[in-house]
Amino acid sequence: MTQTSHAPLAGVMGWPISHSLSPRLHSYWLKENGIDGAYVPLPVSPDNLEHALKALPKLGFRGVNLTVPHKEAAVPFLDHVSDVATRIGAVNTVFVSEDGTLSGTNTDAFGFLENLRRNAPQWSETKGPVVVLGAGGAACAVVAALLDLDVVEIRLLNRTTEKAHALAESLGGPIKIVEWSERGEALDGSTLLVNTTTLGMVGQPRLELSLAALPKSAIVYDLVYAPLETELLSAARSLGLSTVDGLGMLLYQAAPGFEGWFGVQPIVTDGLRDAVLSTP
Ligand code: NAP
Repeated sequence: MTQTSHAPLAGVMGWPISHSLSPRLHSYWLKENGIDGAYVPLPVSPDNLEHALKALPKLGFRGVNLTVPHKEAAVPFLDHVSDVATRIGAVNTVFVSEDGTLSGTNTDAFGFLENLRRNAPQWSETKGPVVVLGAGGAACAVVAALLDLDVVEIRLLNRTTEKAHALAESLGGPIKIVEWSERGEALDGSTLLVNTTTLGMVGQPRLELSLAALPKSAIVYDLVYAPLETELLSAARSLGLSTVDGLGMLLYQAAPGFEGWFGVQPIVTDGLRDAVLSTP
């Protein structure tokens, strides 16, 4: 689509940025909704982050997404940071206000939950413990989202146990730290297993985990979306367990940004999934 000089602009800042799927997904929504606007990849080095953010109002941008390595680093350069982003300690969506001020929020917790609700509506936070593997940035958003639901117990496991303790301390709530070596046993009686580690991702080691102790009604949710069908999800499916993949979270977390920048509430559809997965 050809843009007019008044077309709303948004983008994604990262370093590097060529791998990001966000331009493909926002461009799909722009086209689907007949919006004369653009969403562009913005390669911004860590040294240039502050200047790049502060230039957004002058360049006519309505806002940006932030990805690795900017999510935490951007916080001091914003005028307002939402409660959820403060709690998670990271911003992934920035809005430029009419007066040129910058507001940041984090939509990963929303994306995580929305994807779970849509794809595993049978799951309920009241039925039993949830197991979360990992204690990095994604784990923080996932644990914050689960705590907001008042889950009965979160069993948190990380290779580096101190990081799991630090996450539990910063978020509070019913979090029980379990040693990484006991991950198979930790599944006993749980209702949901969430992998937030990089294990199983293309180019990373596999996740060594027996699912034997998981109840048959449990849901297995992998945040890794490259590959889409991870070994974890395929092992769960072969045991007859319900699964939720990471691509849905990526799509749902993008919706609040699109709505704020372009004024239309976008919909996550199979067409969007196919477009994002298709080779460019
Ligand atoms: P991160 O902050 O770097 O955290 C990485 C996590 O993986 C840490 O818990 C780390 O444990 C663990 N890990 C790495 N290598 C390991 C190994 N060999 N053995 C055991 N644990 C290991 O990364 P992140 O931003 O949280 O992202 C994590 C994953 O989630 C990535 O695959 C990312 O693509 C995905 N993600 C998906 C979405 C989505 O929308 N679907 C959103 C955000 C992230 P240590 O603390 O011990 O190093």
